[in-house]
Amino acid sequence: ESLGAINRAESKVRAFLRVDEEGARQSAKTLDEQLAQGGDRGLLFGLPAGIKDNIVTEGLTTTCASRFLENYNPIYDATVVKKLKQAQSVTIGKLNMDEFAMGGSNENSAYHVTTNPWNPEYVPGGSSGGSAAAVAAGEVYFSLGSDTGGSIRQPASYCGVVGLKPTYGLVSRFGLVAFASSLDQIGPLTKNVEDAAYVLQAIAGHDPHDSTSANVSIPDYIGALSGDVRGLRIAVPKEYIGQGVDPKVKEAVLAALKTLEGLGAEWEEVSMPHTEYAVATYYLLASSEASSNLARFDGVRYGVRAADPDNLLDLYVRSRSEGFGPEVKRRIMLGTYALSSGYYDAYYLKAQKVRTLIKQDFDNIFKQYDVIVGPTAPTTAFKIGEQLDNPLTMYLNDILTIPANLAGVPAISVPCGLTDGLPVGLQIIGKALDETTVLRVAHAFE
Ligand code: GLN
Repeated sequence: ESLGAINRAESKVRAFLRVDEEGARQSAKTLDEQLAQGGDRGLLFGLPAGIKDNIVTEGLTTTCASRFLENYNPIYDATVVKKLKQAQSVTIGKLNMDEFAMGGSNENSAYHVTTNPWNPEYVPGGSSGGSAAAVAAGEVYFSLGSDTGGSIRQPASYCGVVGLKPTYGLVSRFGLVAFASSLDQIGPLTKNVEDAAYVLQAIAGHDPHDSTSANVSIPDYIGALSGDVRGLRIAVPKEYIGQGVDPKVKEAVLAALKTLEGLGAEWEEVSMPHTEYAVATYYLLASSEASSNLARFDGVRYGVRAADPDNLLDLYVRSRSEGFGPEVKRRIMLGTYALSSGYYDAYYLKAQKVRTLIKQDFDNIFKQYDVIVGPTAPTTAFKIGEQLDNPLTMYLNDILTIPANLAGVPAISVPCGLTDGLPVGLQIIGKALDETTVLRVAHAFE
């Protein structure tokens, strides 16, 4: 069914970088055989899944949508991929993204641009744009994405699907190609909140292979979907619905709050005063970490190697110059600058301090409120090409998703209506490790 849907939709949507038809048919067959022999059904038995192409899959090329890794064939599965196999889902293929997860539109993919299934002239968002589009177009039942500054939630919002960024450390990053290690999290993109709870149940949990993995017991996410939000206290930061937010998006969010009120929740406007520094803080820290993480791509250990190098330095320089696209180079240069001696104190160290202030904004709000609610993104999807010549406008789109990454807290985007034929996403942010509340509120709302 999934392969049929891909045949019908893919020429327009182009969500996949690789469809592994043979592998998918083989694992489906194996599952059938195991069942026929009396085996139990796993939690995600037989469900077709797509995997963002920065999550390594044994024997299945993993490119991060970069030319640098066009020939990289991993020799192991990421922990999340292993866990999906244990839960008996079927991997259908690898999904398009912005190169190394840097971007918010999929236009930074070195291969092709995925389109928004609601309107092919529009971007699907990013960087997990392929993951969102594949679910929205019905090509897979669910997908995995990664979220460093909004890359699960923003494309989910643009494509009208559910996207969950778990608490930092809840889901193993082992086998996720690192972008900014202190911010990266893997999470599900699904058609509805119940599916998100199922996928999270399958992928969450401690992993000794990831030194930042949280060693906590995993609650019953599926059982938490009670539909009951009576007495819930919601904070709505005025900075999340103020200047720069499209009035139609704001209207959809206010209507959603009314629905939640009708279900017995209460909401109040609050202030998170450091929100305005989130974008600058994130782009300094994420680029610094990226410049360090991407140093491993040197033409020796992974991926492509420049032909006929004169010497070792020439090999490094030309492999990197030829292998990376313009946005990746921009981030490496920004990060290297922010980390260099003489600038470190003024940029990197300062950004670390502001990160703490932003986290304290969350700590203060969560003393009195259960969740924070607002839009996922200031606007709906924009047209392909519209923001390409100005990276700064593209960066500013991330203002509402970045704070949750800087604070390490869980956040979900759930569809809350259409404006001018394009989906709007409602963002629900919770306390660290309180995915049950985030999922319960999103489920009650949808
Ligand atoms: N748009 C943001 C960036 O370009 C977020 C990316 C992400 O979450 N991976 O860095």
